Amino acid sequence: MNLDLSEFLSVSDKKGHFDVPIEMEKFQTKRTSNRIADKSLVSIDFRNCGKKKVHMDASFSVTIIFPCDRCLEDISREFKVDVNKDIDLNLTDEDRIEQLDEITYINETYLDVEKFVYNELLVNLPMKVLCKNDCKGICNRCGVNLNSQSCDCDTNELDPRMSKILDIFNNFKEV
Ligand SMILES: [Zn+2]
Ligand SMILES: [Zn+2]
Repeated sequence: MNLDLSEFLSVSDKKGHFDVPIEMEKFQTKRTSNRIADKSLVSIDFRNCGKKKVHMDASFSVTIIFPCDRCLEDISREFKVDVNKDIDLNLTDEDRIEQLDEITYINETYLDVEKFVYNELLVNLPMKVLCKNDCKGICNRCGVNLNSQSCDCDTNELDPRMSKILDIFNNFKEV
């Protein structure tokens, strides 16, 4: 949804509050697509702070389902986002690019709430998600989840590249 900020520009000390639903059902990046299990409304307050500037206080929470990086079990992570920002509407799109302003969700006097939510999630996204810090992962031979089951695979057997190095080492010892 786009919110028009122009009414906050024309009247000094003008304030306003919006509760905007989040439309996205999935959080998608170039490489991943994760289901959104739960989301709040985006609560946004605007306040005129003079000279074509609007102050924004926005907050929302989104729960995203990720596969654990080691065992692939689904885990849900809640992101609580709270942003306080001055939006300078004197800036043109070119100015923003020049100043490397991260605000990409403003178009003229409109704020694109969906884009804002997406951006905030993107910067908060973890590089790695583990179901627990000591997740044992899955057996790379039979594929069982080693957190809940054990298997009889010989996990002591070394990676072939590693055993070659060990052979060389042993041969060296025999000499
Ligand atoms: Zn795990
Ligand atoms: Zn196994």
